[in-house]
Amino acid sequence: MQGQMMNRPLLISGLLEYAEQVYPNSEIVSRQVEGGIHRYTYTDAGKRCRQLANALTKLGVEQGDRIGTLAWNTNRHYELYMGVSGMGAITHTVNPRLFPEQISYIINHAEDRLLFVDLTFVPLLEPLADQLTTLQGIVVMTDRAHMPESSLEGLLCYEELLDAESDDYDWPTFSEESAAALCYTSGTTGNPKGVLYSHRSTILHAQAICQPQAINISCDSTILPVVPMFHVCAWGSPYAATLTGAKMVFPGPQMDGPSLHELIETEKVTLALGVPTIWMGLLAYMDEIGKTLDSVESVVVGGAAAPVSMIQKFQETHDIFLIHAWGMTETSPLGTISSCSREMKSMPLAERYPLQQKQGRPIYGVSLKIVDDDGVELARDGVAFGRLLITGPWVAESYFREDHPENFIDGWFDTGDVATIDPQGYMQIVDRRKDVIKSGGEWISSIELENAALGHPAVAESCVIGVAHKKWDERPILLIVKKLGEAISQDDMIEFLTGKVAKWWLPDAVVFVDELPHTATGKLLKMTLREEYQSYLLDR
Ligand code: AMP
Repeated sequence: MQGQMMNRPLLISGLLEYAEQVYPNSEIVSRQVEGGIHRYTYTDAGKRCRQLANALTKLGVEQGDRIGTLAWNTNRHYELYMGVSGMGAITHTVNPRLFPEQISYIINHAEDRLLFVDLTFVPLLEPLADQLTTLQGIVVMTDRAHMPESSLEGLLCYEELLDAESDDYDWPTFSEESAAALCYTSGTTGNPKGVLYSHRSTILHAQAICQPQAINISCDSTILPVVPMFHVCAWGSPYAATLTGAKMVFPGPQMDGPSLHELIETEKVTLALGVPTIWMGLLAYMDEIGKTLDSVESVVVGGAAAPVSMIQKFQETHDIFLIHAWGMTETSPLGTISSCSREMKSMPLAERYPLQQKQGRPIYGVSLKIVDDDGVELARDGVAFGRLLITGPWVAESYFREDHPENFIDGWFDTGDVATIDPQGYMQIVDRRKDVIKSGGEWISSIELENAALGHPAVAESCVIGVAHKKWDERPILLIVKKLGEAISQDDMIEFLTGKVAKWWLPDAVVFVDELPHTATGKLLKMTLREEYQSYLLDR
């Protein structure tokens, strides 16, 4: 027997309508690409989203069309999130940090019809224009006064498009399974793969992440998504903010320590989200000026492992709880979250930090399991480690226009991560499967070694890779970027690590470098380093 409840589709336009009606005065604040701060309310945003939908209709956009964005976190990008998806088209966020050939590949693969671009990225687009075969127009996200000189022909002006339109528009109703947004992975091998989120998956994910035991977003929150809107939809935070009426603060193109601090202080940010490297910059700046981040209650750190030194610094200097989260482009992204649980509250800090370092427990909706290479499920004892699989309503079922059956097994997505799960449900990432170091048949976690090295006060960034070794097949070497003006030797580092990791994990060499290569989403580009240092230990 069927239930008899209404089957009202979960649509992104519904989020915006809700915020307009229930939190009309809640603010959205943005640092603008042209300079200065822009401030308006959900009411104003709603009007502009409807103007945008009218403008898109006039430009011939239809439901299902892909509309590309090359843009920072600003109110205009937010309007595209809501307006494009709201009318039934698909917001395709393109990561401007990808290589130019990947950018053109993605735009062509998605068959983007229009591209909305921030001023910053117009020069990036100019040499690519000839290759972008599906684009029918490029809109610069600025006003007439700031329109750039450009070799690109027929550029449209965002503010002019909106000004010409009425804010009267009825959001259409369609299936909640329709695609809402498209985001490509920044894979280090092969072409980027597209993940196509639906309205339903986006809203279920947004609802789930707001929960207190997740990242705890409410109408009292002031959230600062530093994680880019071109990286897995800023972890879904703009949608979550809208459904709770939270105040939103967008950092625009400026994500350096001083700019973030200024926004946090003037807007009284309570919750900030970003990858570890962003927080390293901010924490170093705060140390320099000798101030604390007083309004912030928690920061969400994901995308890469949060080092224990960072968890400790936030807690002990700033009284901020670091919520460690794990996810992927394919998982919308949030899969697990390590929020401040009942047991954590009663633990001494020294006991709490190792637990906080785990990537956390799955949020209701997703399920995890770890399996061996034959697909046999492994024990949830916190010790056994294996391939991490995930399933749930905001996990990809397939890639956009590409077949990769190897990633999707019997309704589970194989994450490519290796992890443990403990009896309380906490998952801990051991490594990416391709980054794990296999030394004499035993495994060494590059992540754990990197985190231990980061605890040294002279270390700005660390990276551990496995390189060829005559006797053990592979051994770890540690690459270090020193903090400015700091001195440290290989022997100092090995001594520092001794006792923090198993003796046989200690790196065979410590190499000091000026910088480390990163992917477009800020992760260490270990593949390049492995190629460069492949015979480092053999040649010595
Ligand atoms: P992306 O699809 O670019 O968001 O990258 C997803 C990958 O980032 C995951 O498969 C993990 O390998 C890594 N990752 C994300 N969050 C964490 C975390 N908290 N700790 C360790 N690795 C992480």
